[in-house]
Amino acid sequence: MKRKELHVVIGGGVAGCLAAITRSRAGYHVVVLEKERARSPGTYPVCTQTSNIVSENHSGAEYPFDPQSARDCLDGRIVNERFFPELIYGGKTYSRIIASRSMMEAGHDIVGQCRTNMGIIRSHYAQRCAEDPANVVFGAPATICREVPDVRGVHDVAAAFLTPQRGMNPVLVATVLDWELRQCGVDFREGSTVTTVNRLEDGRYAIEYIGADGVLESLVADQISLCAATAAFRMARKLNPALEVPRLFMALREILYVDLPDGTDKNFTCLKLEDSYGGMLSPLNDHCAMIYHPPAAHIMNLVMAPDTCEFPEEYVYYLRHGHPEMRGRAVWMLHRLRDFYPELARSKILGTYLKVAINTVSDSRVRRNIGVFSVHPGATMTVLPKWTMCAVNARKELALALQHSVAVGNVEPDDVPELLAESMRTCWRTRPAWANDDEALTGHAKKHAINMAVPEVLALRFGDHVAPVTIDRAPVAMAEDNR
Ligand SMILES: Cc1cc2nc3c(=O)[nH]c(=O)nc-3n(C[C@H](O)[C@H](O)[C@H](O)COP(=O)(O)OP(=O)(O)OC[C@H]3O[C@@H](n4cnc5c(N)ncnc54)[C@H](O)[C@@H]3O)c2cc1C
Repeated sequence: MKRKELHVVIGGGVAGCLAAITRSRAGYHVVVLEKERARSPGTYPVCTQTSNIVSENHSGAEYPFDPQSARDCLDGRIVNERFFPELIYGGKTYSRIIASRSMMEAGHDIVGQCRTNMGIIRSHYAQRCAEDPANVVFGAPATICREVPDVRGVHDVAAAFLTPQRGMNPVLVATVLDWELRQCGVDFREGSTVTTVNRLEDGRYAIEYIGADGVLESLVADQISLCAATAAFRMARKLNPALEVPRLFMALREILYVDLPDGTDKNFTCLKLEDSYGGMLSPLNDHCAMIYHPPAAHIMNLVMAPDTCEFPEEYVYYLRHGHPEMRGRAVWMLHRLRDFYPELARSKILGTYLKVAINTVSDSRVRRNIGVFSVHPGATMTVLPKWTMCAVNARKELALALQHSVAVGNVEPDDVPELLAESMRTCWRTRPAWANDDEALTGHAKKHAINMAVPEVLALRFGDHVAPVTIDRAPVAMAEDNR
């Protein structure tokens, strides 16, 4: 790099962390401005907002209603498998997708749709493997999805499929990203709320933010990356009022972490597809699961104001103070899923979370990858409707950043392919010494669970003993401000 550019990334969720890591690996000096502060000393507050409740690294199999989402997810899944270390999966290896008999009886050929989708996934994977042997991450294409004859203990099953959707544990993701940000030398500024971003006449960007000590500070960056989830749209539209943003649906969703006092025999996710949905059981380890039952979870769905890109007022209120139906919906969700999953019989709610899911359509079963926006030369915006697309989008936004550096003469065009490839190398190639000691690793992960306001039991992996973590079995309700 002829001149080391300064890049400012706004937001320290998964999108911002990956933008910072990949840009830093490419040779840029990177500052992350994240509004939240760490609750655990010695850690960065990463993935504390929407990225704290993810549990699935999708493969497309759960989107039989939408072949493009299926292909996008599979691409995301492949790139993530190459980018993240094994640790983030915490031992959960695949997903079981069930097509319900009641849906077939109601005249919807969900089994046929799932079978067709498995074919789409197999052929898309075969194509990716042919393009690059490094993409062969799930074995032979013919074997990555398969139909299984029987599912014990679940009612109303027409067909079941084993698929490469792989669970992951958001606390272990944060643990890995914190270490990698330090390895890359990223300047992570917590408690820094960005208030304004302007483009200067020379093409650079002036960023103003309220810093950790409450004082207004500023930075001038060569390039910026807007990764502040929904707040990024406001910043982007202010920078470039002509920017075309798709119609955006913002769904207010409720999701629960529950304990598993009787353990679980599942180190895979169970997802049941039906009109009134059977919901999802996603164990994070032997002691804790994420559960989701759409009729209870889907509280509201509003369209983002296209001109102002403002967050709906109701959402601001609910995220800060909770929704009046939260408790009732949480009880309904747990009660309903007990019908499907016997291990939930004695489960208690460990955490109730209100979050906003972003989509370009109103139907949650059809998910669109929004991709990366070029707001101006040198300014990108990445808003992730799905965690699964994080590494794919990081590669795209780094390509845009490099393209700008080439245009201004700071990077040689011939260097771009190698910089891109090297920036996408697997995290934790250099592992921290504490990663080899189970207790120390759990201790680090626990600090992130505290930052992320999720149950500390998430710090464990499958097969870990529960001893280092005390589970408070009293029900907890939490409303989080994730504007
Ligand atoms: C209920 C639910 C379940 C989900 N489950 C899954 C799943 O299993 N798998 C999957 O693939 N996807 C899932 N998703 C989607 C996934 O959560 C998101 O795609 C992903 O977490 C978005 O990451 P992000 O970095 O864009 O946003 P965030 O994680 O929200 O990060 C944005 C960051 O920007 C910071 N910020 C905001 N404003 C400012 C500012 N002015 N200045 C500085 N910093 C700022 C915030 O503090 C935050 O840290 C789920 C979504 C929901 C709602």
